Amino acid sequence: MSNVTHVRHQEHYSVGQVGPMEDWDAKLFVGRELGFTGMEVSLNRLPPGQEVPFLHQHKLHEEMYLFIGGQGQFQVDGEVFDVHPGTIVRVMPEGRRAWRNNSDSELWCIVIQANLDSLTGQDGVRLGEALTWQ
Ligand code: ZN
Repeated sequence: MSNVTHVRHQEHYSVGQVGPMEDWDAKLFVGRELGFTGMEVSLNRLPPGQEVPFLHQHKLHEEMYLFIGGQGQFQVDGEVFDVHPGTIVRVMPEGRRAWRNNSDSELWCIVIQANLDSLTGQDGVRLGEALTWQ
């Protein structure tokens, strides 16, 4: 599956489907399709033996890489470390980064990027109304 399907935009939320992660393409950006305005999110799948074939950095965005399946390696500024399900990596905009799948099974990762220093502190507000499920 190469895009977000069944997208439904409501006043205060959007919902869509990307299919099971076994069917994800190499990289799928979902931010625009779902209407995000303060972050970008991509779903990533690297087949065995493949790598992101370039280093990259950002001008303004920090990134979070959350590995959810498989085994591989990540590098930032020349430092290499192993990644596996549950590995979470934060990279500052200037970090020169890449990742690869040096295993014989698929590697999956969710990447979220947002403007550095854009958080404003505690933002969630607990509501006093009763919670019900219709
Ligand atoms: Zn990036």
